[in-house]
Amino acid sequence: MWKEPSAGIAVAAQEQAAQGQGAAPRLPLPAVVATVEPDSIGDELGFQPGDRLLSINGKRPRDLIDLQFLVGEEELVLEVEDPDGTLHTVELEKDCDEGLGLGFTEALFDGLRQCNNACPFCFIDQQPPGKRRSLYLKDDDYRLSFLYGSYLTLTNLTDADWRRIEEQRLSPLYVSVHATEPELRSRLLVNPRAALLMNQLRWFAERDLQIHAQVVVCPGLNDGPALERTLTDLAGFAGGDWPAVLSAAVVPVGLTRFRPADDRLVPVDRDCARRVIAQVEPLQQRFRQQLGSRFAWLSDEWYLLAGLPLPPRDRYEDLPQQENGVGSIRAFLEALDQATTDLPARLEQPRRLSWVVGSLVAEALQPVVDRLNAVEGLELLIHGLPSPYWGQPQVVTGLLTGSDLLEGLRDRDLGERLLLPSVMLRQGEPVFLDDTPLPALEAALPVPVQLLQGAADLVAVCIGTLAHDP
Ligand code: SF4
Repeated sequence: MWKEPSAGIAVAAQEQAAQGQGAAPRLPLPAVVATVEPDSIGDELGFQPGDRLLSINGKRPRDLIDLQFLVGEEELVLEVEDPDGTLHTVELEKDCDEGLGLGFTEALFDGLRQCNNACPFCFIDQQPPGKRRSLYLKDDDYRLSFLYGSYLTLTNLTDADWRRIEEQRLSPLYVSVHATEPELRSRLLVNPRAALLMNQLRWFAERDLQIHAQVVVCPGLNDGPALERTLTDLAGFAGGDWPAVLSAAVVPVGLTRFRPADDRLVPVDRDCARRVIAQVEPLQQRFRQQLGSRFAWLSDEWYLLAGLPLPPRDRYEDLPQQENGVGSIRAFLEALDQATTDLPARLEQPRRLSWVVGSLVAEALQPVVDRLNAVEGLELLIHGLPSPYWGQPQVVTGLLTGSDLLEGLRDRDLGERLLLPSVMLRQGEPVFLDDTPLPALEAALPVPVQLLQGAADLVAVCIGTLAHDP
């Protein structure tokens, strides 16, 4: 699935990266301090937000990974530039496991590696033009994969990158596989370098490095026998004490109304979802016997699209692909169980609240609503909305946009307040995927909006125990 790159990737650095693999690497930009932890070494040294860390022991970090390695020394010489341009050299001694307590505005100081593929199902290409620039960045950067779990294809790595992965033990990485058959993977990614995947998996295995895999299923392209081969090939690297492939998520392709009319892609419908479930569940059983783990994980969307019950929580083992939508609803329900062990019988102050979610998940979340509504004096209304913006009647919560909310909530009963899952917003920024700012939604709605971070938040808002309850 697609994830927008972090807010902290400098535009100048992107342009540098866009020069391509042949371009001579430029000197990394300085690491700009964003936060200073109170009482940390950085605080004692007088670091301030806006300070620019130029080098550590004479070396310029390329990214947060380098920075972490360099800071691991006991004796450090830091070259720092104030916001007014004054240069300082700071020498210090510390324990090797002590950090500086500094946060930085960016993760990458030498630019984002963008992808060199042209997948017809690419979500980034299925967006309307004219939106914020970061929405069009095709992140395929192994550093972000290691740091944040974003998926990469391994098609744009140089020899130096492979050496660095080995030397710095950048593991696990998260790899978009889609197919293991070389010719098919090349066709799916529209890149001959994609054919090298099986060799690359052997490379990881030989060095005791690990990956998590994902397969985006496009009906008619990589489902059926191709999917069976892909999962079986991946499972071939999943045995032993130190498996090279830790898990494989199987997710349905997401198609929007902005895609080209002649792309020949077919959306996943109920029959297709049922076929894929019927194919993968027996494979899970086989892998469980062979490997001790179900290994191949179907995202929640398959069951919702198929109209079938989600597997019970214990089938997801330790939720290795939760971030990819595998078992996330079950994990939410489990967190809710914990948060509702001590619900009051009644509320002192009656409350009527509304909760907006994607149409695809509303039914699965109805038991949550029923349980909360058993508290006397509490009425929680759930609104499961489609996405006219993407042209998807069935949509997960994280893809709902500001315009979907404005259209879908018009004339609905919103109670006293609207509870809005923060997953709809760009991380750390009050803006939706279609560029609608959160304040614009707030101004248009007749009730205040409250952001929800998770199950505990939902329960706390409903029973009025949230610390920052307005
Ligand atoms: S690898 Fe394919 S799906 Fe991912 S960003 Fe590149 S073109 Fe898009």
